[in-house]
Amino acid sequence: MYERPVAENCWELAPGLYRILLPLPLEVPFVNAYLIRSGDAWALIDAGYHWGPSLRALGRALKAAGVPSGGLTHLVLTHRHRDHAGGAEPVTSRWGGTVYLHPADIALEAPPPGALRPWLEEAGVPEATRAEIQAAWGPPLDPLPDRVEPLRPEAGLGIGELQFRVIHVPGHSPGHVMLYEPERGWLFAGDHILDHTGPNTWLLPGMAGDPLGEYLRSLEAVADLPEALVLPGHGLPWRGSPGAGARAMAARQRQMLDFVAGLLAHRPMTLWELTTQAAPEVVQDPRLAVWALAAARSQLRHLEAQGRVQLVWEGSRPVWRPLSPARAGTERG
Ligand SMILES: [Zn+2]
Repeated sequence: MYERPVAENCWELAPGLYRILLPLPLEVPFVNAYLIRSGDAWALIDAGYHWGPSLRALGRALKAAGVPSGGLTHLVLTHRHRDHAGGAEPVTSRWGGTVYLHPADIALEAPPPGALRPWLEEAGVPEATRAEIQAAWGPPLDPLPDRVEPLRPEAGLGIGELQFRVIHVPGHSPGHVMLYEPERGWLFAGDHILDHTGPNTWLLPGMAGDPLGEYLRSLEAVADLPEALVLPGHGLPWRGSPGAGARAMAARQRQMLDFVAGLLAHRPMTLWELTTQAAPEVVQDPRLAVWALAAARSQLRHLEAQGRVQLVWEGSRPVWRPLSPARAGTERG
């Protein structure tokens, strides 16, 4: 792969395409932003976290790549998670640019303050731990800049001389999109296709639906894309078949679902017990516990939608058990 270092955290991957590595104050240490130059346009894909070290690292890279002060024309957000969209406001007030985001993520709202308590109860979190988690919980969304343009798949997006397809892939976030430029074969994949092993979906307090089910459907929806330069939100870019990447992701997800269903068939458990068993070090950190529970909760919701498990209150204990032993343990449709 052609790769020209531009700054210590910035590489030109192809003429007019830059990868910018930004630090995160999270368990996941880095996120990728990408910069596109075409005609008079300078477009940034994702903004990183609203955090001084990240904003400085981004500023350095944009300068080194030659973006004039205030010269960004577009800031496209693949989805509204804090590691990708949190920096949108400070980045555009310093560098300019129209912000684009899918309407489903523009419409996202932080859960109402009262939503966490009953949610932790239903997770079976012990009372003392509930208080700790509630004290550490902050809103999972950063405010957006005042003006955000809705990014509509049917309209596509022109950036300079390039015309991008906008592919809506709900699941990781309801308004997650990928951007695809067919002539150059660039696929900005956000967090839809990643080389990692977590559930990649969360059912947070106040959220409805079956995000993991949507995510699996969205993985199928990209199965036919031709070979591309895949530009993920985390990790290294790679060249290959996005469909093969998506199928590998889906296979891992199904394996994890079978594993969870198998555990519950062996011993019915609360969500808290299940999560403590799977990720003890994460659950012990009250700042991360909600995320770990929400990831496992999204798996249980999907297994529930498939008719494989159900939530049963045994006295004050909310226990997940197989719907019927004969039907548990295998993945169905
Ligand atoms: Zn991310």
